[in-house]
Amino acid sequence: MHIPFDNSYAALPDAFFTRLNPTPVKAPDLLAFNADLAREIGFDALPADQYADIFAGNVLPQGAAPLAQLYAGHQFGNWNPQLGDGRAILLGETLGRDGKRRDIQLKGSGPTPYSRMGDGRAWLGPVLREYVVSEAMHALGIPTTRALAAVTTGEDIWREQGALPGAVLTRVASSHLRVGTFQVFAHRGEVDHLKTLTAYAIQRHYPDANGPMDLLRAVAAAQADLVAQWMSVGFIHGVMNTDNCAISGETIDYGPCAFMDGFHQGRVFSSIDQQGRYAYGNQPNIAVWNVAQLATALIQQMDDKDAAIEEATEIVHAMPALLETAWLQRFAAKIGIRTPQEGDLDLIQSLLTLMQDTGADFTNTFRSLGTPAARDQFTDRAAFDAWAAPWTARLASEPDPNATMAAANPAIIPRNHRIEAMIEAAVAGDMAPFARLTQALATPFEITDGDLQRPPTETEIVPATFCGT
Ligand code: AMP
Ligand code: MG
Repeated sequence: MHIPFDNSYAALPDAFFTRLNPTPVKAPDLLAFNADLAREIGFDALPADQYADIFAGNVLPQGAAPLAQLYAGHQFGNWNPQLGDGRAILLGETLGRDGKRRDIQLKGSGPTPYSRMGDGRAWLGPVLREYVVSEAMHALGIPTTRALAAVTTGEDIWREQGALPGAVLTRVASSHLRVGTFQVFAHRGEVDHLKTLTAYAIQRHYPDANGPMDLLRAVAAAQADLVAQWMSVGFIHGVMNTDNCAISGETIDYGPCAFMDGFHQGRVFSSIDQQGRYAYGNQPNIAVWNVAQLATALIQQMDDKDAAIEEATEIVHAMPALLETAWLQRFAAKIGIRTPQEGDLDLIQSLLTLMQDTGADFTNTFRSLGTPAARDQFTDRAAFDAWAAPWTARLASEPDPNATMAAANPAIIPRNHRIEAMIEAAVAGDMAPFARLTQALATPFEITDGDLQRPPTETEIVPATFCGT
């Protein structure tokens, strides 16, 4: 019955959060439970008949210290001085069998002092989207928060679409510290809290970092690597606000996210991203922008501001090169090259241009490289052949390019039309598509369910995702 809670955030100053319990719901029903993850984090000691109540927030597990975290952030570039967990409650942290500390958070668990106009709730659609996509990201080897459980609440909640089934997601994260957590104290001039937070973040995530500027360097490196990984699987986060930018370097907040089908640098899914700020190809720029906001916040605690500004500027200016290196490494692997050389960047870019010009499917094109099926991905086959000739010559000097490609190019990604269809079925009470997706996406480099490789037909395309979460 014992869950190994070890709550360090709750021991920080009161200004960091508001203590409160989740708001109980009418009729909790367990829809999904991640038994493997539960084992990893020591949550399997719970009796199964209590899962629904616990993951709905109706029953608090022993040792929990529930609270809503305070943070601020830039949303679509606009400063918002106070955000915070408006519909999430941190139950506490566990120390897993692997010794790792993880946050256990309920999302959709009722109003908090940070809810502003919101109802503190989530509906089933975004809960299952986050469950499926975050677990898919994990299986792809990309740093991410995880999904432990999803429950329905038995209560209707109201969104633009009308009445929808309420749900709660249990999210597991290496922490929920964000750029926005630093921004809130920096903006208020609460330097002591900023220092406390900085020390806490260093201890929790980057114990080798020596002071705030070293923390900045570590976060810049982690974010650069993360975004390069997103790019390499065609992932579009959709809402890279500074409050959704985790210090740990994990992907967090799967609101309007999506994977692209046909390749385009300008692809946007989020219905509210009218300017394309968070378009696929703009994600590296935004990651740098977010890290620059972290720099601005961290500097507020430095005694010698001029020196700090100089150092922080250097770190932020170095980030595009980190991104380019990480990006080149990932994309080189996608075309079978382990150690990129002069000329490889051109090779990758000319393939991407060709894909964009002909609307080739991102995932299937890379997955089929080296097989006869590759040229079928292109409407202009002669153009593909012209690209493939120097590429084939280049691969002659590579050790086992097929193995490199097989490890870099997933066969199955959570395509947006499958996610939407899964949600529609779940709302109608059919969880079979959810089970099918989670199962196939657990081993995305293996073709266990070939039909899930198929891009959407003209009528199946789901071009937009909604933030109305
Ligand atoms: P997000 O775009 O999901 O990262 O959320 C941005 C901010 O809005 C966070 O402070 C959330 O807690 C808050 N928020 C989003 N949805 C709701 C809701 N239904 N009720 C209360 N707060 C919400
Ligand atoms: Mg958020």
